[in-house]
Amino acid sequence: MITAAGTHPGHRGPATSEDPTSDLKRLLDLQRVDSAIDRLNQRKADLPEQRTLDEVTAELDQARSAHDAKKTELDAVARDQSKLEGEVQMVDDKIKHESNRLYGGDITSPKELASIQAELDALRRRKNHLEDQDLEVMERREAIDKDMAGLTERLGELEGRSTASAAARDTAAVEIENELSKNAAARASIVPDIDPELLETYEELRPKKGGVAAAALEGGVCRGCGVSLSPVKLDQIRHGEGGDLVRCENCRRILVRV
Ligand SMILES: [Zn+2]
Repeated sequence: MITAAGTHPGHRGPATSEDPTSDLKRLLDLQRVDSAIDRLNQRKADLPEQRTLDEVTAELDQARSAHDAKKTELDAVARDQSKLEGEVQMVDDKIKHESNRLYGGDITSPKELASIQAELDALRRRKNHLEDQDLEVMERREAIDKDMAGLTERLGELEGRSTASAAARDTAAVEIENELSKNAAARASIVPDIDPELLETYEELRPKKGGVAAAALEGGVCRGCGVSLSPVKLDQIRHGEGGDLVRCENCRRILVRV
């Protein structure tokens, strides 16, 4: 790329010699570009899209933990349920076995028959108890299933929002990078038009003045600080006294007549 540096190889061009204010006009152009770069860098460092993404990510992490915890609860209740069902099955098998003995006809001793009957009664009570427990576990499981469905839905919704937020952040970041590139190119084309000494003064002043070293002088007012210049100063400027470089009496910024 041929930059302005190629057309101004280290000395002031003819236009500059003819018009002593053009250097300053270019300085004001540079100030505009530098202010734009500062704003872009500020925005880049504190992207609203990044903040939104951070918030969604925090919510997503919470939702994932809640979902995982509920899954652990669900697994535990499922284990309880299958254990109880196994026990009911075992008791059922024993009841069947004892009933067969009771009604099979092989046992005739009244004492033994009474003992089997007592065992059967005990087994049926045990079965009832287990079935009550199973009912409780089923109710618990229903509640957990319901919670789980809600948490899964929330997780899905947050995952969608996270993807969208990340895309929005990426778009914003790319936009800023594009703008920064454009401004960097603009800066590179302006800098060779400015006298190196003036540029040095500007660069030294900028960090001390909140990024604004060059300000327009409009209607006798410094646009850098908003203060009107004294009539004496304005008179000096009008008569070209004090050299090319005019500084604001109040904020010391480089003034550029527009
Ligand atoms: Zn000022």
